[in-house]
Amino acid sequence: MKRVLVTGGAGFIGSHLCEELLRRGNDVICLDNFFTGSKNSIRHLLSNNKFELVRHDVTKEYFIEVDEIYNLACPASPPHYQYNPIKTAKTSVLGIINMLGLAKRCKARILQASTSEIYGNPSSHPQKETYWGNVNPIGIRSCYDEGKRMAETLMFDYHRQNNVDIRVVRIFNTYGTRMDKNDGRVVSNFIVQALNNKDITIYGDGSQTRSFCYVSDLVEGLIRMMENKKEFLGPVNLGNPCETSILDFAKLIIKMTNSNSKIVFCPLPSDDPVQRKPDITLAGEKLDWKPNISLENGLLKTIEYFKELK
Ligand code: NAD
Ligand code: UDP
Repeated sequence: MKRVLVTGGAGFIGSHLCEELLRRGNDVICLDNFFTGSKNSIRHLLSNNKFELVRHDVTKEYFIEVDEIYNLACPASPPHYQYNPIKTAKTSVLGIINMLGLAKRCKARILQASTSEIYGNPSSHPQKETYWGNVNPIGIRSCYDEGKRMAETLMFDYHRQNNVDIRVVRIFNTYGTRMDKNDGRVVSNFIVQALNNKDITIYGDGSQTRSFCYVSDLVEGLIRMMENKKEFLGPVNLGNPCETSILDFAKLIIKMTNSNSKIVFCPLPSDDPVQRKPDITLAGEKLDWKPNISLENGLLKTIEYFKELK
């Protein structure tokens, strides 16, 4: 049995991760400042005496004794991370410095939730971990992209300089139950719009692509990376390679919800990546991991969840 700290544990992915770590018998401390997360997503865990909830901001130091740290604290949806870009950069950079300091002091293993945004608007497709990316350093997505890139740099420097036991995972677009209906990401936007027969808002012409991974598959990958006995630090891509254009995705959601919604085309935000698909060969080789939930099955569960929220 281990004592595990999950920062951003009240968020979408974090709440599923806390739940799964508890199910496997760990003590879990969920740390969150509730910027985008909510007590509702972890309310069902509060009665479990192996679970603790701490309101704290990762940009401030935090002292505790733990065996493992999953660092997920950071808003992930573009409207949320662009709301206060300076705070987003601080969350990634000061947050990982504080968590790496904690890992160093108590000799904990630390996993950083990095992102496919590391690759920016990729000129290499599908994206392999060896690709260094094509990131605008001064655009509206940079607070997130460059913050996450700096966090990866710090992870490897703390490893080389202080021998901290690190794991780096690059997460591609993930969706599922417990997404906030006002989150602003494409999966929640389209499903909520379709269920309410409102216009489906495609940014640009919808030819840009994304590859969507169901949250339970992703959580399994995170835990395999943390618990992996081999000296494999990453970075490793975790995502589902089933690539779809945003226009086809909108049509699929309309079909699956039996909606009367119409598609409307809105301005494309700047620096929106044109294509994104993970190469997950490395995760297969090192972690024996691959996603098991198809887009249709994952969307069925997610649509049911949003129906119940209505
Ligand atoms: P989310 O916004 O639902 O969760 C983020 C959590 O972090 C929230 O609970 C929020 O309140 C908390 N948080 C934010 N700033 C904080 C701070 N300064 N101190 C403490 N807590 C703070 O997003 P998510 O989709 O669950 O993403 C979780 C992590 O995974 C993020 O680090 C994100 O960058 C990464 N990621 C997610 C995706 C995805 O598709 N969901 C893709 C790539 C990477
Ligand atoms: N998108 C869209 N309509 C929306 C929300 C998003 O067309 O209502 C597009 C967005 O421009 C991007 C893709 O869907 O090309 C995925 O957006 P999301 O915000 O989910 O995540 P990203 O992968 O861009 O970080």
